[in-house]
Amino acid sequence: MLLPGSWLGVLGGGQLGKMFALTALTMGYRVVTWDPDPTSPAGEFASHHIQAGFHDPNALKIFCKYARAATTEFENIPEDILRALSGNMTVIPGPDPVSICQDRVREKKFLEKEGFPVPPFSEILVIEDLEVALKHVGTPSLLKINRWGYDGKGQTTVVSLNDAMKAFEDFGRVPCILEQKIPFVKELSVILGRNRKGEIRVFPVAENVHRNGVLETTVVPARISDMVAQKACQIAQEIASRLHYQGVLAVEFFLTEEGLLVNEMAPRPHNSGHFTLDACLTNQFEQQVRTLCGLPLGDPRLVSPAAMGNIMGECWSGGEEPDWEKILRNPDVKLHLYGKVEARPGRKMGHFTCLAEDADAALSRVRSILSELYHRTDSA
Ligand code: AMP
Repeated sequence: MLLPGSWLGVLGGGQLGKMFALTALTMGYRVVTWDPDPTSPAGEFASHHIQAGFHDPNALKIFCKYARAATTEFENIPEDILRALSGNMTVIPGPDPVSICQDRVREKKFLEKEGFPVPPFSEILVIEDLEVALKHVGTPSLLKINRWGYDGKGQTTVVSLNDAMKAFEDFGRVPCILEQKIPFVKELSVILGRNRKGEIRVFPVAENVHRNGVLETTVVPARISDMVAQKACQIAQEIASRLHYQGVLAVEFFLTEEGLLVNEMAPRPHNSGHFTLDACLTNQFEQQVRTLCGLPLGDPRLVSPAAMGNIMGECWSGGEEPDWEKILRNPDVKLHLYGKVEARPGRKMGHFTCLAEDADAALSRVRSILSELYHRTDSA
C-alpha cells in the first residue's frame, strides 16, 4: 500500500492529469507528471513536471527516479513506455488493457469475442475492403480512424461507397473501422474502479448527450429503468473483469429499442464522470488514486442529482473571455476551468456541474447556462 507522502506518476498532462494531481496532492501524495506539452494543465500543479516526449530515455529515467507507481490520463501513451515502466513500478492500468483500448478494431474484436453486444463493424486496411464492409455493415455508417481519434475527430458518416472511399482517402488511407450508425435512444456511460483483488465499485450510470461527436452534457441519475441501469453496470463490471483491469475504467453505451450496445471503453477517468467531483462521496480521480495506491476503494455513492456541461473553446467567441458571472452567480453550480492557455474550437476548456433536486431540473439548468455561454437561441 502506498501511503500519503509517496510519489505518484502520471503519464500525460491534460485536464484529467490535472484533476488527478489536485486530488492526489489534497490527499497528501506528491505527483510527477510527464508530458511533451510546455503548457500542460497538469504540469502547472505537479510537484515535479517532466516536459519531454514519451520516447526520451532521459525522461524515462527521471520519471522512474521519482514515481513509486504510475497511471495514465490518456490512452495513447505508447505501449512500449508502459511496458518499460512496468519493470520498475506498479503501472495501473497495465499495458495490456491500454493497448486494447488504443485500437478501435482490437477493442471491438475483444468485446465481440467475449460475448458483449457491439454495433456491426468491419476492419478497413485497404480501400478495396470498403465494398464488402459496406455490404456487411450497411448504411448509414461511420468510418473512423483506428487509432488516435477522439472527441469526434477522425470519424465521418458515410452513406455510399463513394463517400466511404473519399473519407478513407481524406484520412490518408490509414487503418480504419467501419461501424453501423446506431439509431440510439440514449447514450450512457458507466465508470468504475477495480482494484488488484478484483473488487469493483461502480459510479451511478450517466446519461450523455454529444454535439458533433463531443460530449456536451451528462446527467445523473440517468433517466432509464432500473433494469437497464443494472444491465449496463453488469456489462461494465464483466468487461473490467475479463480485462483483469486495475484502475478506473469508463464504458460507453448506446441504448437502442433492442437493448444496450457497447460503443467504446476508456482506460482512465472520463469526461462523463466529472460530475463525481461535486456530486459523489468519492470522485473518479480519488478512486484512481485509491486503485493506484492499493487503498480500499472509496464509496462512489451519488449525494445529489446533478448535471454537467462542457465548456468548449467556442465559448471564447472573437477571442473574448466568456462571462463567468453567468455561471458563478448560481450558488448551486460549480465551475472547473482547466487553465489551458489557448481556446480553440473543439477544445475542452472546462466544465460546470449543477446540483438540483432531480435530474431533469439539473439538466435544464445546465442547458440554459450553456445557451447563454454559447449565445445560442436553441436550448438543445
Ligand atoms: P466515439 O469517439 O467513437 O465514442 O464517438 C463519439 C460520438 O459519436 C459518440 O458518443 C456518438 O454520439 C457518435 N457515434 C460514434 N459511433 C457511433 C455509431 N456507431 N452510431 C451512432 N453514433 C455514433
